[in-house]
Amino acid sequence: MFESHWAHRVPGDLNRESEKGESRTLATKIEVLAELQRVDQSLRENTIAVQSREARVTELEKSLTERRAEANTAREGLNALTVRQRDLEEKVAAIEHKMKDRRMRLTRIRNDKELGVAKREMEILKDESSTLETELLELMQRVEEATKRVQDFEAGLSTLGAELESEATALKETRKRVGGQIVQDQARRDDLVGGVEESLRRRYEMIFSRRGGLAVAAVRDGTCRGCHMNLPPQLFNQIQRNVDEIFLCPSCQRLLYWRPEEDDADE
Ligand SMILES: [Zn+2]
Repeated sequence: MFESHWAHRVPGDLNRESEKGESRTLATKIEVLAELQRVDQSLRENTIAVQSREARVTELEKSLTERRAEANTAREGLNALTVRQRDLEEKVAAIEHKMKDRRMRLTRIRNDKELGVAKREMEILKDESSTLETELLELMQRVEEATKRVQDFEAGLSTLGAELESEATALKETRKRVGGQIVQDQARRDDLVGGVEESLRRRYEMIFSRRGGLAVAAVRDGTCRGCHMNLPPQLFNQIQRNVDEIFLCPSCQRLLYWRPEEDDADE
């Protein structure tokens, strides 16, 4: 193996496999990693698509549960007010009945003293009735408001329910659309990973997760396409001469992937 002390050549066993002359000879290590990255990017994109839909459904389910509880509280409040309204209406009716009865009696009273007592009783009943009427009017106003609130909650619940239903359908469709692709990618990934030594795979995965899903960066015109920095010419020469070895970008630490045909096509 060409021994270089170039600082950006990956140290240790990352480059060892090619020396052993193992079966995988069609692709260089970096080509396998570039392919692995294409698979991983597809997996990542599809997984995020499903997860974001799932998150949206969960969020809607949570608000629906909360809104339902609020709607129930509003309904209970309305029921309690309605019970009170009926109770008051009965009281008002009872007083009206009593007043009617007293009015009938008044016509039969002969004696002044009894008349005075009966008239005072009527005054008291009138006061009581007027207090109850005022209370009833107030209560009816509150019942009206509470009814409106319950209606608003119900309208909100129905909108939210429809939204949840359409999100759940979208999730189902997304799962159906990308599910097969995910299984396929996973199988392809297992296959590719089998040809990459453990330490190199770990390094690749670490960079992939820390560098926004881009671990293998193309080199074009002597520039790293991961971070757009110019590579030192000496490193670029080494990459061109040692296609079987793995080199890291000195500024972003990504694994560098140079292919002459792509470099030319780009110009
Ligand atoms: Zn870079």
